[in-house]
Order: sequence, then C-alpha cells, then structure tokens
Amino acid sequence: MIKRIRFVSAIFALIVSPVIALAKPAPLHVLAFYSTNVEGDHVDFALQALKFFADAAKRDNFQFESTTNWDDLSSQRLTGVQVVMWLNDSAHSDQQRAAFQQYMEHGGGWFGFHFAAYNDGGTNWPWFVQFLGGAVFYGNSWPPLPAILDVDDKTSPLTKHLTAHFLSPANEWYSWQPNPRANKAVKVLLTLDPSNFPLGFKDTLTGGDIPVVWTNTKYRMIYMNMGHGDRIFSDDNQNQMFKDALRWLAQTPMKK
Ligand code: ZN
Repeated sequence: MIKRIRFVSAIFALIVSPVIALAKPAPLHVLAFYSTNVEGDHVDFALQALKFFADAAKRDNFQFESTTNWDDLSSQRLTGVQVVMWLNDSAHSDQQRAAFQQYMEHGGGWFGFHFAAYNDGGTNWPWFVQFLGGAVFYGNSWPPLPAILDVDDKTSPLTKHLTAHFLSPANEWYSWQPNPRANKAVKVLLTLDPSNFPLGFKDTLTGGDIPVVWTNTKYRMIYMNMGHGDRIFSDDNQNQMFKDALRWLAQTPMKK
C-alpha cells in the first residue's frame, strides 16, 4: 500500500511540478559591486560580505554574483538584476552613473554599505546626493569602535527582531550634513545612541543626531553605515538585519 501511495505521489509530482515551476517567479538575482584598490579595511569588509551573502544565497536559494568591474553598471548587465549591492565603492564614470540612475529610476534595488554613500564637495554627482536623501559626508570616528544603536522604527521588517538598543560591532562611523532625516521621504531605521558620544579618539563624533541606516522611500534602496573592517559580521542580530534587508528590498514592489 505504501509503495502504491509513493507511486501515485510520484506520478502526481511529475504532472504538477512543471506547472509549479512555470508559476514560480524568477529567483532573486543580486549583483554586488566592490573594489580591491581601496582602503584595506574596506576590502576586508567587502570580502567578508561576499562570503556572507554567497552563503545566504545558497541557503535561501537566490542568485548572488559579484564584480569589481564598475562598467557592469550598464543597462545590458543590469537586466534581470533585482538588487545591486555596493560594498565599498561607488560609480565613478559618467556612463556608470547614468546607467545606475536609469536602473534606480526604473525600479531597481540598491543595498549600499559604508563608503558606498561617501560623497563630498569633490564627488560632483547631485543626483546621487538626492538619492541618498540629501546626505553629504561630514565627519567620522576613529579608530573603529563598537557603538550602541537605537531602533527608530520597531515595525519595520528590518528591525522587528532587534532590541530597542543594541551594540553594533566595531565600525568607523560617519556623520552627515545635511542630515538625511530632514528629508520627508527618508525613513531612518537606526541611529547612534547619544550615550556613545564622544565616539572615537583620533577622530571624534561629539554628538547630535546621526542616522546609521535609512531608506529614501522614493526608491527601492537601503543604506547602512556599517562596512569598515573585519568585525561587522560578528553579531548574529545584525547579521539577521542584513539578510532581512535584502529580502525586504527584493519584496518591495517596483516603484515604476
Ligand atoms: Zn571606513
């Protein structure tokens, strides 16, 4: 009897599975960009991030690719890519920038870490600044230190498993001026807790409102200031947030 049930199940699976396969959406496709000719601590982070997300891809069955060729920011290469990651650098050439803007304005997804959002007076890319919600790099802490982060929004799928305050592993922390929180389209998810200040020894963040993770809701994007050195992936709760953020980006409907 058991044999017979197995046989029937097998036949059923044969008939039904092609239908299921057709109905399934294409698996998530992520393309991570990074550079190896940048600050050593930023390369260390990128290499760990590649391993972290490649492992997650295997476990959760999504496609994860990486490249150091920023010319892969092209409409041809980005076709079918749901989320672009920038691990430790940014687009430099006009062509790369234009392709990225086009991608994001047509519903692409962006997951940026740490130096990916660095911009200053010499960056000369106004579209990117508004994309970040207006944030321009203002200052940093040094050396890398752990910091207590406050959860701004407990209802977000990215933060729901986090405690209201948690210790984030050692990182170089940036401050921003203008503050992205001043932008109504920006939703800040994590902020440096005031008890951290003064944060740093050589370079010090002395106080104020310093967002760490935010999204500009006009786009399918998330920025996280974590991304300096080889300690970032040492906290399980924070690791879970990285994975949840990727899932959230993948599931957020296209804007256009
Ligand atoms: Zn750094």
